[in-house]
Amino acid sequence: MIAQNIEQLKRRVAEACARVGRDAEDVRIVAVSKTFGVELIKKAFEAGLVDFGENYVQELREKMERLSGKPVRWHFIGHLQTNKVKYIINSVRLIHTLDSVRLAEELQKRATGPVDVLVEVHTTDEATKTGVDPRDVVPLVREVVRLQNVRICGLMTMGPFSDTPEDSRPSFRMLRELRAKVESENIPNVRMQHLSMGMTHDFEVAVEEGATILRIGTAIFGGRKARENSKS
Ligand SMILES: *Cc1c(COP(=O)(O)O)cnc(C)c1O
Repeated sequence: MIAQNIEQLKRRVAEACARVGRDAEDVRIVAVSKTFGVELIKKAFEAGLVDFGENYVQELREKMERLSGKPVRWHFIGHLQTNKVKYIINSVRLIHTLDSVRLAEELQKRATGPVDVLVEVHTTDEATKTGVDPRDVVPLVREVVRLQNVRICGLMTMGPFSDTPEDSRPSFRMLRELRAKVESENIPNVRMQHLSMGMTHDFEVAVEEGATILRIGTAIFGGRKARENSKS
């Protein structure tokens, strides 16, 4: 099941890349394994995926421990509270959700070496979405570059709540333009390689708009049950 899902997903990613003349090698799939058990993660790993994303610190810690024998690359994709930083900082590959200078300062303080982060940007007008305001991205980057251990590698966003993939295009386009804007500022030591955008329902649009990282749960693991306890 999972192996077939991954095969089909990769084919759709390749087709979307082909439509816009991109190389599928430039698009990384992060399998969002939240709520799913380690047996399913192992299956996805055996089927060739190495990047896995979680959005609750406690759940991530448990899975990391149980899969410590495998060279899994863990991504943190949920809202990160400063008091939880110490539990994951030195074992995740990429934190997708930097949204304040205060969080960056905590990362700086706790890191034993460089940590790669993406700035999460709020690209819709929905009040519930997290991330920094598009206008605050350049000022945030300017502040964070002073922190030696915190390496900004790009931007992340979520599209609007909608079943229609095209509804996400303005968000994804805005993220791409924001990356260009940050690059045009020529801030020393900032290399904006990544755009983390696109989920199960809108990843093809994300690929067309330049995503380098897709965060995909449902298309790999199937539907999730509602979460009983949303605290971590
Ligand atoms: C759950 C989640 C995803 C994956 O969602 P699917 O629709 O299952 O692909 C991607 N990004 C974030 C931040 C998530 O919380």
